[in-house]
Amino acid sequence: MTVNEYVKKRFGRYMDQCTNEEIYTALLEYVKDAAKAKEKHDEKKKLYYISAEFLIGKLLSNNLINLGLYDEVKKELEACGKSLAQIEDVEPEPSLGNGGLGRLAACFLDSIATLGLNGDGVGLNYHYGLFKQVFDNNLQKETPNPWINDTCWLNPTDKTYQVEFGGFTLTSRMYDIDVAGYENRTNKLHLFDVETVDDKMVGSDSIDFNKEDIAKNLTLFLYPDDSDDAGRLLRVYQQYFMVSNAAQLILDEAEAKGSNLYDLYDYAVIQINDTHPTMVIPELIRLLQERGMTMDDAIEVVSKTCAYTNHTILAEALEKWPISFMKKAVPQLMPIIRELDARVNKKYNDPDVAIINKDDCVCMAHIDIHYGISVNGVAALHTEILKESELNKFYKLYPEKFNNKTNGITFRRWLLYSNPELAAFIEELIGPGFKKDAMELTKLEQFVNDDAVLEKLLSIKAARKVILKDYLKKTQNINLDENAIFDVQIKRLHEYKRQQLNALYVIHKYLEIKAGKIPTQPITVIFGAKAAPAYVIAKDIIHLILCLQQLIAADPQVSPYLKVVMVENYNVTLAEKLIPACDISEQISLASKEASGTGNMKFMLNGALTLGTMDGANVEIAQLVGDDNIFIFGEESETVIARYERADYVSKDYYEKDADLKAAVDFIISEKMFEVGQKENLERLYNELLNKDWFMTFPDYQDYIKTKEEALAAYEDRKAWAKKMLVNISKAGFFSSDRTIEQYNEDIWHLS
Ligand SMILES: *Cc1c(COP(=O)(O)O)cnc(C)c1O
Repeated sequence: MTVNEYVKKRFGRYMDQCTNEEIYTALLEYVKDAAKAKEKHDEKKKLYYISAEFLIGKLLSNNLINLGLYDEVKKELEACGKSLAQIEDVEPEPSLGNGGLGRLAACFLDSIATLGLNGDGVGLNYHYGLFKQVFDNNLQKETPNPWINDTCWLNPTDKTYQVEFGGFTLTSRMYDIDVAGYENRTNKLHLFDVETVDDKMVGSDSIDFNKEDIAKNLTLFLYPDDSDDAGRLLRVYQQYFMVSNAAQLILDEAEAKGSNLYDLYDYAVIQINDTHPTMVIPELIRLLQERGMTMDDAIEVVSKTCAYTNHTILAEALEKWPISFMKKAVPQLMPIIRELDARVNKKYNDPDVAIINKDDCVCMAHIDIHYGISVNGVAALHTEILKESELNKFYKLYPEKFNNKTNGITFRRWLLYSNPELAAFIEELIGPGFKKDAMELTKLEQFVNDDAVLEKLLSIKAARKVILKDYLKKTQNINLDENAIFDVQIKRLHEYKRQQLNALYVIHKYLEIKAGKIPTQPITVIFGAKAAPAYVIAKDIIHLILCLQQLIAADPQVSPYLKVVMVENYNVTLAEKLIPACDISEQISLASKEASGTGNMKFMLNGALTLGTMDGANVEIAQLVGDDNIFIFGEESETVIARYERADYVSKDYYEKDADLKAAVDFIISEKMFEVGQKENLERLYNELLNKDWFMTFPDYQDYIKTKEEALAAYEDRKAWAKKMLVNISKAGFFSSDRTIEQYNEDIWHLS
């Protein structure tokens, strides 16, 4: 059936008589049917990728591409006077993730299906996701981001489970989203929900709600505000709900395929994405005992089934739940957790590796490490830091469990879909093989001295800048200058990612221009970032950037040469537009703090050059492209780690010794800034930098300015720059999530 026939069947009219909403509805059905035809049910062993976040982005075009229907549908729509791009606008983007971790999970599902592996995602069906960011008076405001309606990708199933909490029981329902692999099978993303959730607990312009009534609020939001106990307790309820459903599903599916449960690991392998799904370990042990197994056997079976991915070395992210929370929310797990702890203590007698610590908290990561088959970091440097410092004691106990899986991104979304102009040009040069085997991109190297190829790369970049300009004008009323250098920093707002360092550069540049030093080429510094609602300093940094945007735009002496733009509600859809248009990719985290980054990979693939520190996967990017094709600055991770150990960093020392830095920092609390901003926020941020600066912005300040100037100067030689772009694209193949998933499968999952 053609799309037009779907439309006719659904609405009794043909496409030219239908609204975009109606066509979208019919396209959903069309795609769902096509995806269903590619389901497979015959393999014995299945991977369950459990994650609290799946930042999937819009799915319509991606599914059409993966199902091989994109060109044909686009043409059919055009023939009826409709545009696929406009129909895509109808689709809401669910915010079922914060940032990199959730986006990684989504890229992995794409690659698992694309490689034909039997693996499903398991998570929660948040009704409002994270939040929708709006700017109000240069401040972030959080509003709900509803995405579920009658016409969406969710398919209700008839699978329901009972999930028992302390004092009450909830009935769950499983909803499925199809995951269509690229020219391969269809897998599932299973999202669990409770029927009793009450959407009306949430108003339309605030994300506040009653945190006590679990039956009504459980799946309203992704990780609600954890600044108070009620919010933190709700996270425990959410996590247990997720994994109890997952565990019941896993046991049911294994038994249905003939498992006697003593051989569970022949039927299931569970990847625990960060510590949020950790309770799946004690929950499975509990359920296996309920089904007749001894504690010893249950522990042994589960320990052969679960694998853990560590995503960060930031201490606050290694979850530790107070026993009091666990007793209240999930009392049935506490005896099991105590038993797991007792066994560890008996064997190792070391409080540092115990599961229950001296503050009576359960260290979730410790459960994963002791009772799993694998612990992996997400980039080479990150895994080394885990082994050598953060998790060194565990590494000594279990060296064989530790392994690295450098993150990746799906090239279907981040090249074929987001930059069709570049994808088509690459295909013209080296054929279509790179779509299935990303390493074929290295064939581009032969064109590094081909002037016509280099010219064309520059012209594609120029065209993508115009596309971004039009898009931001239409959607956010932002005016871009397509002739400027686009310097882009888009990622979660966090002090370790150091948007504040970039903002200090902007101030430095502003002051230089005011003093008469005009840049040879106009520069546009683009930011996009959400801050956690309770993260005060992160929100102050957003305030600083928005104030700079307003102040500079209003200054005719500066605005022709320097522009600051902060896009509202940074999400996957915006990333897809921003990344192809970028010249300079800002990856400036404090060395040792960014586990991997995946934004850095998307930019590289789209011909942006990295300006970054030797952190996360930047290290591997630098090794691949070589010194001439990347701009590296700042202190290295050993220096940073040593300084934290000495605990002798005093930011004021840097401030007092460096007049330029001092001028930039002082500007934050200048009269000019107070004219556009809030004194309280700006002063708080100023004091934070001057008296703490926990993520060590100041030591890297001068090197950052110098290196950014080098990058801007390099941009002037267009041909040399285009060569660097080409080298970056040609080396990006390593960062395909297909490679990452092949490694997970080879080393951990062992699916056929
Ligand atoms: C890729 C991506 C991220 C991760 O970016 P990093 O720079 O690696 O932190 C976050 N948010 C969105 C929407 C993304 O697409």
